[in-house]
Amino acid sequence: MKLDGHAKLTNAAILSFSVNCAKATEILQKDTMCRLPQFSTLNIDWKDWMNSNEKDNSNLAYYLAVQEASIIGESMHPLQRGYLTRETVAVDIEPLKLPLHVLASGQKYHFMRDKSDKTVKNAYNKASAFVHANAQRWVEKMHYVLYQHRPQGRSGHSTIAQRRDAASCLALALHSLQDSFSPAHTRRASYKTPNQPGAIEDMYIYSEQDHNKHSAHDYESGSRQSLHAQSAVLASADLMKLCVASVSRKSKTLSGWNSYREKWIKLSPKAA
Ligand SMILES: [Zn+2]
Repeated sequence: MKLDGHAKLTNAAILSFSVNCAKATEILQKDTMCRLPQFSTLNIDWKDWMNSNEKDNSNLAYYLAVQEASIIGESMHPLQRGYLTRETVAVDIEPLKLPLHVLASGQKYHFMRDKSDKTVKNAYNKASAFVHANAQRWVEKMHYVLYQHRPQGRSGHSTIAQRRDAASCLALALHSLQDSFSPAHTRRASYKTPNQPGAIEDMYIYSEQDHNKHSAHDYESGSRQSLHAQSAVLASADLMKLCVASVSRKSKTLSGWNSYREKWIKLSPKAA
């Protein structure tokens, strides 16, 4: 999936999540949980808000490079608009994260299989555990921010760092989840309804692919007329909902993960 594809899917998921958020949370927590600045869209001058394309992709790459260059300056400020979306995209570009495309340990960041993974199941277990672990981290960090943090002294009142960390973790989960819907990353059983995606039958090895083909599939899966993209939006919104619902019940554990996984990233029994 391309940079702008991840951005457009995440933006769409945030909007869909926001509409349904109140239903997912306990009454008292509605305002706190549904209006977190994290759940705001990244608005740049998109040529096409719905579909992934080369112009938006390169504009976004430039925008992110400028943002990343000024990241030290922003660390003490409240989260910027669109931070979650930006972080979801940044998994593909941040200099520190870039080697992940080629390193074995990095394939789970993109829901792909490493050469050393003997079976698809092996790769799948790593990738799905990665999505789960990072969603779980969001729940722990936001639980701390909302219920455990006690302001102390003049400098102790800020939870900006924890909120930023939480959003960055959720972004890792969302990025990998979205990649799991890209035909360049996985093969799913064919399906017709975005809300009922096909099970994952295969996961591909990046270094063994034709990279031009990978790229073309990546534009397609970031475009909203594609069934895969529609599923990725719904799955992303549903993961946000799962996270928020857990914290709103004052839980430190992400609940409902198993049924979530069965619905959105189920491994097909056919997978070798
Ligand atoms: Zn990726």
